[in-house]
Amino acid sequence: MKLIKFSTLLFSLLVFIVSMVSCKTAKDKSSTVISQKVTQTIKTPEKPNILVILCDDLGYSDLGFNGSKEIPTPALDDLAKNGTIFTSAYVAHPFCGPSRASLMTGLYAHKIGAQFNLPPNSGETIKKGISLEETFISKVLDDAGYNTGIMGKWHLGSNAEFHPNVRGFDDFYGFLGGGHNYFPEQYRAAYKRQKESGRKIIWDYLHPLEHNGKEVRETEYITDALSREGARFINEASKTKDPFFLYMSYNAPHTPLEAKEEDLKLFSHIKDKKRKTYAAMVYAVDRGVKRIVNSLKESGQYENTLIVFFSDNGGKTKAGATNFPLKEGKGSTYEGGYRVPMFFHWANVVPAGKKYNYNVSALDFYPTFARLAGAKLPEGKQLDGKNIWDNFLQNKDARKDENIYVLRHRNGFSDVGVRKNEWKAVKAYQQKWKLFNVDNDMAESNDLSKTHPKILNNLVKETEVWSGTHIQPLWWHDVKTGKDWKADNMPKFDLTFKVD
Ligand code: CA
Repeated sequence: MKLIKFSTLLFSLLVFIVSMVSCKTAKDKSSTVISQKVTQTIKTPEKPNILVILCDDLGYSDLGFNGSKEIPTPALDDLAKNGTIFTSAYVAHPFCGPSRASLMTGLYAHKIGAQFNLPPNSGETIKKGISLEETFISKVLDDAGYNTGIMGKWHLGSNAEFHPNVRGFDDFYGFLGGGHNYFPEQYRAAYKRQKESGRKIIWDYLHPLEHNGKEVRETEYITDALSREGARFINEASKTKDPFFLYMSYNAPHTPLEAKEEDLKLFSHIKDKKRKTYAAMVYAVDRGVKRIVNSLKESGQYENTLIVFFSDNGGKTKAGATNFPLKEGKGSTYEGGYRVPMFFHWANVVPAGKKYNYNVSALDFYPTFARLAGAKLPEGKQLDGKNIWDNFLQNKDARKDENIYVLRHRNGFSDVGVRKNEWKAVKAYQQKWKLFNVDNDMAESNDLSKTHPKILNNLVKETEVWSGTHIQPLWWHDVKTGKDWKADNMPKFDLTFKVD
């Protein structure tokens, strides 16, 4: 009896020990799995290369990954498919100059007097640019040890004091104004004609390209030339021990509409000449992206590079772009003006095959890039965006209950838009304030201002407070606009923020 009891006890003890051990093993395993998961989700390698690919006036739906059946963009689609597509990404302004100023400074352009485009040939006429008080993200990354390059359009000041090389970029290949013609032989001939006709100021779209302040005799179609220089920069930077920040600032598909014959042939089924040429110009960018991705792979940098793709503003529908299903396009405070196609790609870090549907702003790039680079922000630096990285990786709303603004002045009026969560209040050109639930109604077709007046009033009030941070413009895109501004006693915010 005693023996049986003892053996039972021994057996029970054995069972207990075994179960404890197996339980511990299981617990260890599960905690290992969890910690691996957490590590994979949150840990971000330090100091990645950062590659920004910016298009100019590209339509929301003019890419395969955003629904285009007409324009194949295989290289961009491949990156988008293996990265995360942002469906609700905004730039800070619905046209070029202020949008780019915001990208570089992390501030709404109105706060620094840059709410208008610099006029053409600004280097020879007004000699102005973005205030030197502002430290560009390129300088922040340069100071953090990055190789920094910009290929393409600048548009932030054409005089020596505002040159990309003094704003943190080691390597600049491109042009300083707001755009450029695409075929070197043609623009050289046009430049010569203007010079021979005795014109003092020659249209800046025709000037020779430059490399770090020295004129170059370019021979390739501009989009191909910029892609070539981007690949060169990557190859050179990859030979150093330091990471790089490359800003591919394509002017395509901005006007003038000029495409290569070989690209036009691919779109012979498109009847509309503008649309056909525009499509061919987008295709040339995609070819360039393929070349750049190849150079990342060949130099061993592909897996250590965050690629960010977007457009500086909405597509210009009169120049062949489509923003479907968004309303209107470039210049508008409806979604088509400043909600842009965007993706992040970073192999094994950025979630692949996903969509991020929360609101983000291009203003968020400054602090987000600085965080990834482990860079120190300038002392007292003000920012209108925020570091979205950790929320983005966890698919959490980085901007819950926060506003994303847009405001554009024209002809004595101020067009405004404000997005918060699912809501958007908008005052389009010469119209009354309207309210949309943009989550359900991307096309802004069902005005809810009468059914939700409180939501509208609150958004308008908050936007009025924001407008108090604006300063008077430091320039206008032409002389007449500046004169009209003063004659009209702009910005007339008392009228702008009246809800009727
Ligand atoms: Ca633009």
